Amino acid sequence: MPGEFEQYGGRHVPDPLEEPLAQLAAAFEEVVPSEEFQERYQYLLKHYAGRPTPVYHAETLSERWGTNIYFKHEDLLHGGAHKLNNTLGQGLLAKKAGKERLIAETGAGQHGTATAMVGALLDIPTKVYMGRKDINRQEMNVFRMRLLGAEVEEVTRGNEGLAEAVDAALEDFAGNMEETHYLVGSAVGPDPFPRMVREFQSVIGREAREQVQELHGDLPDACVACVGGGSNAIGLFHAFKDDDVMFYGAEPGGKGDQHHSAPLSKTEQDDPEVFQGMKTKVIDEDTTNHSVSAGLDYPAVGPEHAALQELGRAEYHAISDVEALDAFRELSEAEGIIPALEPSHAIALAKKLAQEDRHDTLLVNLCGRGDKDMQTAAEKFDLGPS
Ligand SMILES: *Cc1c(COP(=O)(O)O)cnc(C)c1O
Repeated sequence: MPGEFEQYGGRHVPDPLEEPLAQLAAAFEEVVPSEEFQERYQYLLKHYAGRPTPVYHAETLSERWGTNIYFKHEDLLHGGAHKLNNTLGQGLLAKKAGKERLIAETGAGQHGTATAMVGALLDIPTKVYMGRKDINRQEMNVFRMRLLGAEVEEVTRGNEGLAEAVDAALEDFAGNMEETHYLVGSAVGPDPFPRMVREFQSVIGREAREQVQELHGDLPDACVACVGGGSNAIGLFHAFKDDDVMFYGAEPGGKGDQHHSAPLSKTEQDDPEVFQGMKTKVIDEDTTNHSVSAGLDYPAVGPEHAALQELGRAEYHAISDVEALDAFRELSEAEGIIPALEPSHAIALAKKLAQEDRHDTLLVNLCGRGDKDMQTAAEKFDLGPS
């Protein structure tokens, strides 16, 4: 079945949602491979979004860590993260299907911003659901979304985070299915979202696979990416699926005590659950261990990652806030690149792998830039009064 990854994934939704999702799956299969769609999509990826993004050999870190480190520079994509690859694809598909409004959920605000950009570009009214906790720590992205013409709706239930924003967006969708496209921001949710988001993000790995070979003369030994829902990670990994290249995902370990907030790497593994339309691995309900990075603060993980782990194709490791912040600072000082806090988890994991001498060459997805995190950095590193 398309949309199933081993025992994970699927389309576990109430009856009324089944039909619109089946229609979306059919539209995805028919429209996306068409020449007309691809021409427009590839045109916008290149001229609007700034693809291809470069691969960079981080010479200072490579020397320091004794392992070749290459970065895929998704932070240079328009908007400052990988999100636009997906929102452009889904936005074009929604337009083609005659949808009159876009809705989205957002955590750090990066996906909301990328959706608002596409809403403006394609002239489709856009509403973004965002938890109050995230609105408070990512104010700049709220301003960006509003400036781009989107309506930002504050979600105040539960943890006031990404999971609650998804619930609110799902409810909106259930009430307005005919005219609305729910533009899901990660490789999560009911089918067809995990495979559709993978399709739109896999340009990352396709480009990087060629670029690393050009620069390095060979494939990397492993790919490393941070995992919130898992879209930038699967977008990097997918092109290497048939290669002898290992995959590593960095999950948010929060304060680092028990890794409760990391569904694949927490110490006590539970059975999979049905969560927000998919069967996957989920964190413990009572966890209070939240990540410093809003973009990774999601209680579940994309089903394909759960499958990759089960197959032994990929490993997932929890990275604590402190480890991520150290990596954030080290990359800034060593290479003159300020990463987002999310990929700082991947950089910290790459450093650990280098210290364990597990591989000679690592390709790391630098999936976002750090501008949005400067307030956090200023507080953590005492960068002085503003
Ligand atoms: C949204 C976001 C993430 C987390 O989402 P994934 O779907 O796991 O990629 C990670 N990094 C950045 C920079 C983001 O904006």
